[in-house]
Amino acid sequence: MPHMTPEKALQNLLDGNARYIEDHLLHPNRCTERREAVSSRQEPFAIILGCSDSRVPPEIIFDQGVGDLFVVRVAGNVVGPVALNSIEYATKYLHSSLIFVLGHERCGAVTAVFEGDTTDIEAISSLINPVIQECKRECKHASPENLLDLCIRSNAKNVAKNIRSSPLISRYIQEKKIDVIAGYYDLYTGKVEILE
Ligand SMILES: [Zn+2]
Repeated sequence: MPHMTPEKALQNLLDGNARYIEDHLLHPNRCTERREAVSSRQEPFAIILGCSDSRVPPEIIFDQGVGDLFVVRVAGNVVGPVALNSIEYATKYLHSSLIFVLGHERCGAVTAVFEGDTTDIEAISSLINPVIQECKRECKHASPENLLDLCIRSNAKNVAKNIRSSPLISRYIQEKKIDVIAGYYDLYTGKVEILE
C-alpha cells in the first residue's frame, strides 16, 4: 500500500521547496533516529528524475532528508532503459507515490544538443534531439534564448510522457497509486515550477 497520496507527496515537495526559497530550511529526517528507522526498510514518498547538474540537488532544493526521496540523476534528466527500470523498481517495490521529472534553467546537456554539439554524448543526445527538433519547428519565431528554454521545458514534459507510457507505471496511475509530474527549476530563485 502506498503510504501517501500523490497529491500529498507533491505538496510535501512544494512545501520543502518553499522553505528552501525562503531560507527557512528544516533539514528534516537527518538525525540518528531517522537513519536507524530506515536502516531496515525504505519507503521514499517520491521518485525524482533530475539532471546531474551540481546546482540542482533534489534533497536540498526540496528540503528533504534520509529515506524521503528515491533519486535518479542523469545529464538532461532523460529516461533510457536503465533509468526507467530504476523508476519502475521504486514504483513497484518501494511504494513511492509520485514521480517528479525535474528539468532546470540553462541545462548544459540540453544546451549542447540544442547547439548541435553532440559528439561524445550520443546516448543522451539521441533522447533529447527529437524534442529539440520538434520545438524548433513549432517555435520558429522565438528568440534563441527563449527557444532553448522552451526546449528544456518540452524535454521535461516529454520525459514525463514517456514514463507514463510504461505499462507498469500506467497501471499504477490508473489505480491512483502514483502520479507523474514534470517541473522546472529556476537556478537563480530556487523555485520549482510545475509544468504539467
Ligand atoms: Zn541539466
